[in-house]
Amino acid sequence: MTDIINKLHTTGDLPDSELETLIETEDPAAAELLRKLADRVRRESYGDKVFLRGLIEISSYCKNDCLYCGIRRSNKNAERYRLLPEDILSCADEGYRLGFRTFVMQGGEDSFFTDELLCGLIREIKQRHPDCAVTLSLGERSEESYRLLREAGADRYLLRHEAADEELYRKLHPSEMSLSKRKDCLFTLKRLGYQVGAGFMVGAPFQTTKHIIADLRFLQELQPQMIGIGPFVPHHNTPFAEEKGGTLALTLRLLGILRLMFPKVLLPATTALGTISPTGREQGLKTGCNVVMPNLSPVSVRKKYDLYDNKICTGEEAAECRGCLQRRIEGSGYTIAQERGDAAGFSCAE
Ligand code: SAH
Repeated sequence: MTDIINKLHTTGDLPDSELETLIETEDPAAAELLRKLADRVRRESYGDKVFLRGLIEISSYCKNDCLYCGIRRSNKNAERYRLLPEDILSCADEGYRLGFRTFVMQGGEDSFFTDELLCGLIREIKQRHPDCAVTLSLGERSEESYRLLREAGADRYLLRHEAADEELYRKLHPSEMSLSKRKDCLFTLKRLGYQVGAGFMVGAPFQTTKHIIADLRFLQELQPQMIGIGPFVPHHNTPFAEEKGGTLALTLRLLGILRLMFPKVLLPATTALGTISPTGREQGLKTGCNVVMPNLSPVSVRKKYDLYDNKICTGEEAAECRGCLQRRIEGSGYTIAQERGDAAGFSCAE
């Protein structure tokens, strides 16, 4: 196992058969070596810096019906809300005061948020906070829409591919959604000059090692600036309510593998990782992660952005989250970088 890990460290890649062995190993010595090398590689590109992204969850309305997701349209028990433009702007102002230099507007696919409305919001945030990056995570939109949003000033777009294997993608999504559409969106976003984030859930129902290898190969093809992975966590009001969730150990192994395969990528220690283990995000940081995405949404709506059960940080004010994360990050041996945090080697046009 040591040989395989060292080979991944020196060459940045492995044949499928060795990836399979590494993804499946439960050897604690392998986990430790992977952690050590992933941390070394992240420090070579990013030192001890951790970038913060202030997450503003703008809407829990969604026209999609992803089988794993708590805000899918078929979940009649989901409480729906959408933030008003002035609420979103005050979240960004508050975030700026707290030292955030990236704002992520994320939400379900909600047609209330037209291009016009979003473009106005992006321009206003950029005008108030010119030294900040604006990231969108609003699902699939038309090329024209992505173009307008980019022209209004959006810098980045997060759209997990969710599953690069056709068959698995179909088992996780309703028949009207398609992997080819998802991939097209990602390549379009890249072409339009966005810094792009893709990714997938770890331990999703029906997911096998072969599927995960397909995800890694797709990421090699796409070469995104960010890769978001986190454990699948069941939601009680979805068809996957009774399924098992993804494990901490497998998520950490994959984070380590991703850091060695993509030395300069932005790798978030996700909220889902913090949800399945109280020290999940700290362990992620020590295994190659260099981004944390604290919640900036108003406390009044946080519980309603209910993607999966037991989601953490739904009761705290933004300032408390900021303080809590700073302690966690510094306690793990890293420091918060108060900057936009573009991917290393990515030249920002503006
Ligand atoms: N509508 C946007 C944002 C989706 S929410 C979009 O389509 O991109 C962000 C991510 O949460 C999703 O991409 C998905 O990977 C993750 N997610 C959804 N349900 C989840 C669950 N039950 N467990 C873990 N992660 C989940």
